[in-house]
Amino acid sequence: MRIVFIGPPGAGKGTQSLRLAKHLSVPPLSTGAMLRDATANGSELGIESAKFMKQGRLVPDHLVEQILFQRLGDPDCAEGCIIDGFPRTVPQAEALDQWLAERQSPLEIVLELYVPFEELQRRLAGRGRADDSQDVVKKRLRAYDDLTRPLLDYYQGRSKLHRIDGLGSPDEVFERMLAAIKSVKPKQQ
Ligand code: ADP
Repeated sequence: MRIVFIGPPGAGKGTQSLRLAKHLSVPPLSTGAMLRDATANGSELGIESAKFMKQGRLVPDHLVEQILFQRLGDPDCAEGCIIDGFPRTVPQAEALDQWLAERQSPLEIVLELYVPFEELQRRLAGRGRADDSQDVVKKRLRAYDDLTRPLLDYYQGRSKLHRIDGLGSPDEVFERMLAAIKSVKPKQQ
C-alpha cells in the first residue's frame, strides 16, 4: 500500500508513520529525515536544503523531489511505502501523482493527522530539534497553513483524504489510522 501522511509540525506524523510502516512491512520515507541526512553527509543538495530548513522555510520543490523520487524508485518501495512530509505543496502533489501514474502505482490513501494549533505549539515547545526554536516553529506552522493546507482540498477532490484525530494517546491515534486504512480496499494492480 502506498500511503501519504499530511499533518502540521508536531502532529506526531514521524512517530506514527514509523509505526505504521513496521505494521504494514513497508519502508517509511520521511523527506525531513532524508534532507537532514543529506545535510549531515555534507552533500551539495543537503547544504543547499539546510539554508531553508534553518529558517523554517520549505526546501524548493526540485530539491525535495530529487531526493524523494530517487528513493521511491528503490526496489524495496515497489510493494508500497509510507511517505511522511511529502507532498507539502500542490505542485509537489502533482509531481508525485505523475511519477506514480507513469509507474501504474497509484496512491491508495492520504491520512491527515489533525491536531489543534494550541496543542501543536505546546508539543513543539518541548521537543528540542535544531529547527524547533520558537521563531522557526512559528514559521513552519505558517508554511503549513499557507502551502500545505491547500493540499487537503486537492486530495479531498480525489476522494483520497481521511482525517485522523491526532489527540489522545499514541495507541489511540494508531488504532484510528488502522481503521481508516481498513476502510480502503487496496486497488488491484
Ligand atoms: P515537521 O513536519 O515537524 O516540520 P519534517 O522533518 O517533516 O518536520 O521537515 C523539516 C523541514 O524539512 C521542513 O521545515 C522543511 O524545511 C523541510 N522539508 C521536509 N519535507 C519537505 C517538502 N516536502 N518540501 C519542502 N521542504 C520540506
